[in-house]
Amino acid sequence: MTPEEFRTAGHQLVDWVAGYLEGVERHPVQPPLQPGAIAALVPAHPPTAVEPWADVLADLDRVVVPGLTHWQHPSFFAFFPANSSYSSVLGELAAAGLGVNGMTWATSPAATELETVVVDWMAELLGLPANFRGPEAGGVIQGTASEATLCAILAARERITAGAGNHTGTLGDLTVYATAQAHSSIEKGVRIAGIGDRNLRLVETDEAFAMRPEALAAAVAADRAAGKRPFLVIANVGSTSSMAMDPLAPIAEICQREGLWLHVDAAMAGMAALCPEHRGMFDGLERADSLCTNPHKWMGVNFDCDLFWVARRADLVGALSILPEYLRSKASEGGTAIDYRDWGIPLGRRFRALKLWFTLRLDGVAEVQAMIRRHLELAGWVADQVRADPRFVMAAPPTLNLVCFRHVAGDAATDGLVEAANASGEALFTRTVLDGRSVVRFCVGARTTERRHVEAGWALLQRLACAA
Ligand code: PLP
Repeated sequence: MTPEEFRTAGHQLVDWVAGYLEGVERHPVQPPLQPGAIAALVPAHPPTAVEPWADVLADLDRVVVPGLTHWQHPSFFAFFPANSSYSSVLGELAAAGLGVNGMTWATSPAATELETVVVDWMAELLGLPANFRGPEAGGVIQGTASEATLCAILAARERITAGAGNHTGTLGDLTVYATAQAHSSIEKGVRIAGIGDRNLRLVETDEAFAMRPEALAAAVAADRAAGKRPFLVIANVGSTSSMAMDPLAPIAEICQREGLWLHVDAAMAGMAALCPEHRGMFDGLERADSLCTNPHKWMGVNFDCDLFWVARRADLVGALSILPEYLRSKASEGGTAIDYRDWGIPLGRRFRALKLWFTLRLDGVAEVQAMIRRHLELAGWVADQVRADPRFVMAAPPTLNLVCFRHVAGDAATDGLVEAANASGEALFTRTVLDGRSVVRFCVGARTTERRHVEAGWALLQRLACAA
């Protein structure tokens, strides 16, 4: 492709993306497809001759769009959102065009320094406490919350073993604490870090699915008595199933008393802290060791973009730094530059700061706050409807933009409702299980969701509930 051809195709592609996003509502939120349906539309073998751009562009409509679950659809109420904005998409395009690898400061100073600046901006905008903002602390952009949590586990492991965990491999006596509501990335991280999922303790929760601090204290004491080495607590601020909020202040107190690392997983809910009135969920964060939250979930920054802060950057770098000769540079050795390769798992790093920088400058935080507040109001409306409808019962306290409820007729009716609603293509919901019973999750989080979409989603559930 020549630069001229790239210009022409690029303009057409931007038009195509704008058209897709403008018209996304026309599509069923999730297509009724069987596995293999999309692969069957493309040749089994690679092209033997180059093809015209027009054919490739046309295949976005012929092959790709019919095979999408439309995450940007305003009636996408499933999982947690992964909303994006035009500004962030432009940032992503610029990053791809620049094509740099920001693994060290020297391999692209702008990638490193803009990352430091935008992560500091985000700490300010989220109102993070001083422990995540001083010179010993630091933040970094990770691809996902799963990676951030794995880094926290590794840093905590190295702190408790005074650096020996990386070398000796004798980790069987270390124990980690979370609740059964913790995201699956925690169990996965515990496995990858060599701690072993048998050493992950699931601490009892209360009626709102939040960790009971006294149960945590008891579990830690029992493990100590059994000769184990408790070292890490992972708290939910907004669990995936029901947006449960573990009480950080009493948990942090136990962690401090017991010398345990406290990692806070606020992958989704953390973005609500952009609105000062929702910062109460972070009470106690001032004593945590690390935090992750995802602009790629609820800030209009397209996937992937997770923010990860540690209170002592030396813990993280100590766990992850390995310095081969080919990566040495004067800037790094002089201690004046950050090498983000030491703050995460991969060596190579995308220029993710650009999409955050673009979003903050072009849309502005006020726009994001308005979106979050609109979603919260709409979710509040859904909660009111659930309470007023005798066919449904609330399955967890409605929190932020998530409402969880069940059909009174039981699991088969709840499951059938989710299946039928999703098969209609009119909206998309996720089923989960709370207290051993099936639950519908109604999560309001797409950037373009308006009241009419939420009303239509609720009307769909009501219509189908009659048949259940
Ligand atoms: N933590 C929580 C509470 C989540 O809800 C999710 C995903 O929904 C994750 C972690 C994992 O996020 P990621 O896809 O960024 O790894």
